[in-house]
Amino acid sequence: MAKRVLVVEDNELNLKLFCDLLRAHQFEAEPVRDGREAVARARDFDPQLVVMDIQMPHITGLEIIQHMKRDPTLRAIPIMAVTAYAGRDDEERIRAAGANAYVSKPIGLVRFMEEVRALMPAESPAPAPAPAPAAPETGTEEAPQPKGPGLLF
Ligand code: MN
Repeated sequence: MAKRVLVVEDNELNLKLFCDLLRAHQFEAEPVRDGREAVARARDFDPQLVVMDIQMPHITGLEIIQHMKRDPTLRAIPIMAVTAYAGRDDEERIRAAGANAYVSKPIGLVRFMEEVRALMPAESPAPAPAPAPAAPETGTEEAPQPKGPGLLF
């Protein structure tokens, strides 16, 4: 199942670029253009990662990160901040707010995908196979072999 990435970015070109890139790498990308919708959309979409622009109208990415990290249902979702800020103070504030990674624009496509993969939670283990049915206690014929999931391939 494709991993879901919520992309919060007010710049239409960047938003399309990030989403196209993620989809080309088999992620499910959900665009959010208005930061004021980001928290509700995160609840609905339940992403494995949020890519967060910082400079946006109405609400900054920094405020959204703070909000998400205070929310018990959202705080575990890794957040990758993407920003044109250059100052070290800005980076520290963004990390202090709870961003799990900080990448400054312009960002190369390879670096972007490396950061995305680094933040993805590990694959959850495959579910255990169902226990085999008990063999019949009587009769001389061999019990039929249970069909395990491996036989489907
Ligand atoms: Mn922006």
